[in-house]
Amino acid sequence: MSQITQLLKQHRRNLHTYPETAWTEFQTTWYIYQQLMTLPFKLRLGKEILNEAFVLNRDEEEVKSSTKRALNNGVPKEFIHILDEFTGVMATFETHKSGPTFVLRFDIDALPIQETEDAQHLPNLLGFRSRHDNCMHACGHDFHTAIGLVLARWISEQRAKLRGKIILLFQPAEEGSRGARAVSASGLLDEADYFAAAHVGMMARTGEVVIDPYGFLCGTKFNVDFKGRAAHCASEPEAGKNALAAACSAFMLLQGISRSSKGASRINVGKLSGGRGRNIIPDQAYMEIDLRGETTEVNDYLVKRTQEILKGTAQSLDVQLSIEDLGTVYDIKNDPELVEYLKEVASQCPLVKAVTTHSDFGGSEDASIIIKRIQQLFGKCIYFVIGADRTAGHHQPDFDADEAALEIGFEMFKGLIRKINGC
Ligand SMILES: [Zn+2]
Repeated sequence: MSQITQLLKQHRRNLHTYPETAWTEFQTTWYIYQQLMTLPFKLRLGKEILNEAFVLNRDEEEVKSSTKRALNNGVPKEFIHILDEFTGVMATFETHKSGPTFVLRFDIDALPIQETEDAQHLPNLLGFRSRHDNCMHACGHDFHTAIGLVLARWISEQRAKLRGKIILLFQPAEEGSRGARAVSASGLLDEADYFAAAHVGMMARTGEVVIDPYGFLCGTKFNVDFKGRAAHCASEPEAGKNALAAACSAFMLLQGISRSSKGASRINVGKLSGGRGRNIIPDQAYMEIDLRGETTEVNDYLVKRTQEILKGTAQSLDVQLSIEDLGTVYDIKNDPELVEYLKEVASQCPLVKAVTTHSDFGGSEDASIIIKRIQQLFGKCIYFVIGADRTAGHHQPDFDADEAALEIGFEMFKGLIRKINGC
């Protein structure tokens, strides 16, 4: 086994043993920091890599308890203090030679899933099963992080040959599409000329690399509050402002948003509540909305119509409206230049048995948020899939992926750096 393969497996297994869910990756961040601190990278940590105003769905209690767990597991107090309650690492390698800025993103979070006790499950067989209750790397982000760490080592060994700037982003909270939003809003990646990210497994088997996948689901979630004024329904109903009436009107109109000819769409008001009691004009109402579109364009159309309906109904019933945006994920359109680069890299790699151009991803990916922003600033982006045989579907307790994908992933990213750097 080559030294690279050994190192990739070692990192992957260490990370698999101590998984942490979105926004609580304190021990993982410490692990990454320890691997990078002796290498010639400028490291930004925790709160430094994100815009706090764009942080969504972060459970304070969970953050507190996982901080405590990390301390118990030996993460130094001073380090936790530096992170300032947030997680993730941005490692910048500056060559001081003119050249492009290339950002590579690796997500680091795990899922709230109890890992299987099946003795044949490789982490059980080899003793690297999750030691955190109800938490497991069941999507393969331990693979991604391991690849990023070994790549960092390779970059520092190649430093004389490289030019421009390489930024390795170890991103927190991919699950739930939360981390990328806050990180990209920091503006720290706006200088990117190139961006690359990947996922192991998904629809591809070991040895297959999907260089231009499609079928990334777009979606937007809203929580909506209508606020009116309560009044006695018999003695002075005209003094009230009926928030529930506004919400119900909006509910009906939302069902009737015209379908788009540009692609498939979904809309669901999954929750609607309001009012206080029989004889009171309802002064409050609440709804939860889920929008999906086949493309960003279709999703944007649904978002626009939904906002118009909500504003219109609130105005017509003279109630106040507040819309909490829980975030949007987009579809991904790879830039042809990078698809060509990756095709060349994959075709020349002896570990790659099949180079697939198009294949249906069939899921959401929060890297799409970073990609959208970088492409708007004229940077070029690629998202690809590193095939891996799986024992079960992603996000299942008996999920495991073929570790052969580690080296293939490493080779793909390494090849992309070489192509972009012309070395
Ligand atoms: Zn994933």
